[in-house]
Amino acid sequence: MPHARTAPLRTTTTQDRTTTAVLIAALPTGPLAANCYVLAPAPGGDCVIVDSGQGAATQVAKVLAEHDLTPAAILLTHGHFDHVWSAAELGETHQVPVYLHSDDHGLLTEPAAGVDAGFATQLQMLLGPGPYPVPADLREVADGDTLSLAGVEFVVEHTPGHTPGSVVYTVTAEDGVPVMFAGDLVFAGSIGRTDFPGGDTEAMDRSLRSAVLDRPDVTRILPGHGPGTTVERERATNPYLRDIAGRP
Ligand SMILES: [Zn+2]
Ligand SMILES: [Zn+2]
Repeated sequence: MPHARTAPLRTTTTQDRTTTAVLIAALPTGPLAANCYVLAPAPGGDCVIVDSGQGAATQVAKVLAEHDLTPAAILLTHGHFDHVWSAAELGETHQVPVYLHSDDHGLLTEPAAGVDAGFATQLQMLLGPGPYPVPADLREVADGDTLSLAGVEFVVEHTPGHTPGSVVYTVTAEDGVPVMFAGDLVFAGSIGRTDFPGGDTEAMDRSLRSAVLDRPDVTRILPGHGPGTTVERERATNPYLRDIAGRP
């Protein structure tokens, strides 16, 4: 979930291409418009799905058909319901593994544990009584892992703060530009909230330093909500990052 002060979320479905052969479709899903990404080195081959919110299965199916793609895996940036909603379903449909940091595995079976009491009631109405499906082939990712999937290398960095098990996945596009799937670590102009159970402001500051401020300016950021941005832009304009950068 985004920070309370985040900018209005994009609600339209968009698709864009990076400047390289890597195809990335961004599909906002569910009431919180969590971005589901489909990444492939080229049409007509394997692809990787990053996050899979409510309704992702239908939207992903269209992208797969349009570009003749076959999922090889599903990567989850963290365990919040708006990012994992369809992971079990998509994993089952395509018989692929689902990757999530072990510190967030508990949120799959207890989604309300990741939000405050007020929101938990709403969430219960949204999700129904449960039990909630857990991906059949659930795997762990850890800091420093490199996953080779669909011909693309994904480097995992553990970035706790928004949730204990938040991670970012970074791929390098063919022109050498790093592309980071940031989940709810950072958004264009905002950062992920840390006031839910499991949130940690100090850990968030450390994660924002290591995964955003310490990265090259050209790094492209594909956040869990809203439009894409770059490290350069966020370093210059994001008030939260400017605040962190200004402290020792
Ligand atoms: Zn979240
Ligand atoms: Zn979110």
